[in-house]
Amino acid sequence: MTEVHSQTREYTLPEGCPVCESDLPVRVTATGPNAVCTHCGWMGRPFITVTHNGLRVSYDDTARA
Ligand SMILES: [Zn+2]
Repeated sequence: MTEVHSQTREYTLPEGCPVCESDLPVRVTATGPNAVCTHCGWMGRPFITVTHNGLRVSYDDTARA
């Protein structure tokens, strides 16, 4: 078993880009999720919320640094 201190995780949201609907690679770090579309260059922070209807993905692309 390997101990990893980094909290960085990466996953892909299928058709997750709100602009071009391409698969959206998401990197989750200690500061939160960050996504950059490799197709159109859209950048944003996807927030995954668990609801009674399943997972809901919302985006905050107006976040200030
Ligand atoms: Zn895109």
